[in-house]
Amino acid sequence: MQKDLRPAVIAGNWKMNLTPAAAAALIAEVRPLVADAACTVVFCVPFVDLAAALEAAAGSNIKIGAQNCHWATDGAYTGEVAAGMLREIGVEYVIVGHSERRTLFGDTNETVAQRTRAALDAGLTVILCVGEYLEQRKQNITLETVRIQTKIALAGVSAGELKRIVIAYEPVWAIGTGLTATVAQANEVNSGIRALLAELYGKAAADGVTIQYGGSMNAANAEELLAQPDVDGGLIGGASLKAADFARIVAAAQ
Ligand code: PEP
Repeated sequence: MQKDLRPAVIAGNWKMNLTPAAAAALIAEVRPLVADAACTVVFCVPFVDLAAALEAAAGSNIKIGAQNCHWATDGAYTGEVAAGMLREIGVEYVIVGHSERRTLFGDTNETVAQRTRAALDAGLTVILCVGEYLEQRKQNITLETVRIQTKIALAGVSAGELKRIVIAYEPVWAIGTGLTATVAQANEVNSGIRALLAELYGKAAADGVTIQYGGSMNAANAEELLAQPDVDGGLIGGASLKAADFARIVAAAQ
């Protein structure tokens, strides 16, 4: 089965939620619930929570990620955090290009590409987010939109480096809204992204890339979404803040 060619990855995106103490408490609660997970389990936490999260997850199968990184290695970028800084403290993953960063904080396809490059250079694994606005879906340009986002972000990324890229297809209209793409919509776009990867890197490399779905995935709908042939995991916002719900999603990925 093609899905055996790539690891399933369930990643929680806590966004701007939980203090360090609350982060440690949630990870302590989740730890035993996901100890037997057959998939990779990641929590992407606020910068200030990283140290507490790393400590709480130490010795477990939970990996810790950040939610953004800057493209420079250092310099006059007040308020930013470099990828190398994240790597040095033990962070393994970083979300790049989340729609909230694109919409609220001015990220463009070009800056997403720069952040991706910097994260790879620092040794991180990138969770690269792409997805269309509702207007673009109505205009029937969903696939074109995610193809452009993906192609620009991956410009300059080698086939070898593709092993440290996870793509998260997240329709913007489904994020935090309770609206979920249908399983057919999720699989169609994920499969379109994989077809683009095959054009760029060849079929074997494309088959090895984990492509998640994100957008109101929860304990109730995860199993059906994750059963789709091209849905290899999930990027989970709201439901990743509840231990039992997140653990059910992880269990659905097995
Ligand atoms: C997200 O933040 O990437 C996300 C998918 O959020 P939610 O699951 O809350 O829609």
